[in-house]
Amino acid sequence: MRIICPHCGERGLEEFTYTRDAECTRPIDGGAKLTKEWEDYVYFRDNLKGPRKEYWYHSAGCHAWIKMEREMSTHEIISVTPP
Ligand SMILES: [Zn+2]
Repeated sequence: MRIICPHCGERGLEEFTYTRDAECTRPIDGGAKLTKEWEDYVYFRDNLKGPRKEYWYHSAGCHAWIKMEREMSTHEIISVTPP
């Protein structure tokens, strides 16, 4: 898979690190207590088909964070933008 970094241009997937889903909302900090909302946020994800937004990090390149929209069923990259 090739990814077009907004800063470096087209690069191989091996230069990037997936960091997290950009569409999940982080729960409000509940202190040291593990709440159901935090448990769901950290450990459980729906595996949905269709376009999803994700945060990636150009770890072997410019060290920039990027926001990628990707079709989950085909892995087709729809867009790559700065976050
Ligand atoms: Zn880059």
